Amino acid sequence: MKVIIKAREGMGNVELAQRPVPEINENEVLIKIRKAGICGTDFHIYKWDKWSQNRIKPPLIMGHEFAGEIVETGKAVKGLHIGQRVSAEGHITCQKCKLCRTGRGHICNDIEIIGVDRAGCFAEYIKMPAMNVWPLDDEIEDKYGAIMDPLGNAMHTVMAQPVSSRDVLITGGGSIGLFATAIAKRFGAARLVVSEPQPYKAQLAKKAGADEVINPLGDNPKEQILEAFHGRQPEVVLEMSGFPSAFQLGLEVIENGGDMAILGIPSEDLNIDMGKYVIFKGITLRGINGRRMFDTWYQCQNFLKGNSSFIDHVITHELPMEDINEGFRLMSESKAVKVVLDF
Ligand SMILES: [Zn+2]
Ligand SMILES: [Zn+2]
Repeated sequence: MKVIIKAREGMGNVELAQRPVPEINENEVLIKIRKAGICGTDFHIYKWDKWSQNRIKPPLIMGHEFAGEIVETGKAVKGLHIGQRVSAEGHITCQKCKLCRTGRGHICNDIEIIGVDRAGCFAEYIKMPAMNVWPLDDEIEDKYGAIMDPLGNAMHTVMAQPVSSRDVLITGGGSIGLFATAIAKRFGAARLVVSEPQPYKAQLAKKAGADEVINPLGDNPKEQILEAFHGRQPEVVLEMSGFPSAFQLGLEVIENGGDMAILGIPSEDLNIDMGKYVIFKGITLRGINGRRMFDTWYQCQNFLKGNSSFIDHVITHELPMEDINEGFRLMSESKAVKVVLDF
């Protein structure tokens, strides 16, 4: 089968290759990939940043967001069938630890992620444990099925605290920030402001439902934000960028007692005055990892049925899988947000 691999360490080195079709055990299914999303994580692996250098062991089949069709089921698999359209949770959990046994498998200590720790979905076929498979509702097209993973990251972050009737600031307008913008607005955020320096993404944030978009690299971003909230302070901050400066900005503007959920992974250690910004402000900081299994998936399914038009423009490109490097080029030049590959 045709696959896309990170062939070697170093910048780039993403190549097409041939691999045997995987063999499944009795608890797994074999899925023929139809569409797969390129994630920021794949882009980190492409760029070979510090995180990738510590985690990725090339050669590796990349990719973890997909929609496809079941072509084979293991002997012990029940409730799934050949020909069924599916996506899947890419975090494979141990099923044994305390966290897994108490409904918190998304923070299992013994997690394996497809396309990171084991073969991913940038391939004609992938094998998945049946328990990770998410059957796709008839109303949800393949291209939305292929982005349920990052949509789930956004959903998990928005749902981590109430947003309805509250002022919400989202720092970072990448694909997950834009998904979160659409979700928070649809879920009734009072006023929703996005901070994003790139004009292309800023304009997409408006389309997704932001009442205002400010440029954090412009003059006095703190003043800009307070003005955008008509002099109020945001009660909720969703940090989606991973930039220490965005995190700091969020802490400075958030209202005392506010809720801050952090999904963006900082590229370096943060130096924060915890006393001033967290303790005395009495705010709640929450780290968000992955998607709750499977609460978040049900929420995403319900959101997509009827609301997909609010995120449609975030999928800026659909390319044949052979053009993977073109996808990365568009992303590195900030000309694309979510790129979906056709297999
Ligand atoms: Zn992803
Ligand atoms: Zn576990």
